[in-house]
Amino acid sequence: MFYDWGKKLIGYEYYDISFLKPDKNCSTCDIYNDYVCSHCEIETISGTPNVKYTDDLEWVIKKK
Ligand SMILES: [Zn+2]
Repeated sequence: MFYDWGKKLIGYEYYDISFLKPDKNCSTCDIYNDYVCSHCEIETISGTPNVKYTDDLEWVIKKK
């Protein structure tokens, strides 16, 4: 079960964020180790429709 600010999220599943790429202009990302910093991760994903960041710091998306 997923929670967003203590509220149960019904009908959500894990959102695959493996498509994320490190930002070469970001000093925290590491393009050599393919590491995306949490700032860029949140910047990139937060505008995606039906995607939420849970209390367990995982991305989930509403099932179709
Ligand atoms: Zn970054």
